[in-house]
Amino acid sequence: MLPLFYHEIYTSAISPHARFPRDRYRLVYEEIQSRTIENPDLHIELRESFEAHRSDILLVHSEGYTDAFLDGKLTDQEIRRIGFRPWTPEFVERTLTITGGSIQAMRTALEGSMVAGNLAGGTHHAFADHGEGFCVFNDLAICARIAQRDYGIKKIAIIDCDVHQGNGTASIFADDRDILTFSIHGEKNYPFRKEKSDFDIELPNDTDDDTYFAALKKTLPQALYSFQPELIFYQAGCDPLKEDTLGKLALSRQGLDKRNQLVFQHVSYWNCPLVVFMGGGYADPIQASVICHADVFEEAAALKATVSSTY
Ligand SMILES: [Zn+2]
Repeated sequence: MLPLFYHEIYTSAISPHARFPRDRYRLVYEEIQSRTIENPDLHIELRESFEAHRSDILLVHSEGYTDAFLDGKLTDQEIRRIGFRPWTPEFVERTLTITGGSIQAMRTALEGSMVAGNLAGGTHHAFADHGEGFCVFNDLAICARIAQRDYGIKKIAIIDCDVHQGNGTASIFADDRDILTFSIHGEKNYPFRKEKSDFDIELPNDTDDDTYFAALKKTLPQALYSFQPELIFYQAGCDPLKEDTLGKLALSRQGLDKRNQLVFQHVSYWNCPLVVFMGGGYADPIQASVICHADVFEEAAALKATVSSTY
């Protein structure tokens, strides 16, 4: 069974008036649920997320920023930079629950499951001292620090395939040789001032399936081989999809499937535990993104079946 973490607050705590497709979390959950009912060979176990602790957040984020957010004391400008306006009273709880879901997925993967995921998260635009681009706390970075502290893991590769550069993650780990930051993203897309990841693969607008796949195939093996990961995080954003309103690339559903397969082949090769973070997806209507997010987790379940039978 592939454990996937979810909570209804992922959707319910975003205001219906926010310019954000809040229903995508619930819809991905429902899509996965219905696929498991239709396909008895799809072994996925949906579990409920719990809130992360303040001490988890402080492994990565400054005390000033963390407490200002938790206490509802961010300035208007800081809130605007994050997005999600208008805010709701449950927004702090939601942020902690998403971070907690990622931490639970990471712990579950390392405690024997090998593969696990969160039906949200991959909040890669969050920096140590501020949030932006719909990201408050950087769950990828927090999970990396907890894996190092609690599980004796040293080297963690973060493979970020969201169409937007993982600028927060790159900044947090800029001087850290034990965390590999690999980001394949749109060159002419947000964030317009990019940070420096260990590997930045920049793609022009309207990049198609073949060009994307060739770029990933050329760079990912080299990045992983020179690094030798012990644990892999996959930020599996589906916003490179042609229908995405914030993506600017032109991948098809099949192109995203090929991308996922390539990443998962490398996970198998390195025999590493894997944590899958959902990332962005903003098609309008949202259903095209929902299908692609569900595909990621369905393929992760297939990967889990192969690693379980091997180990
Ligand atoms: Zn994105």
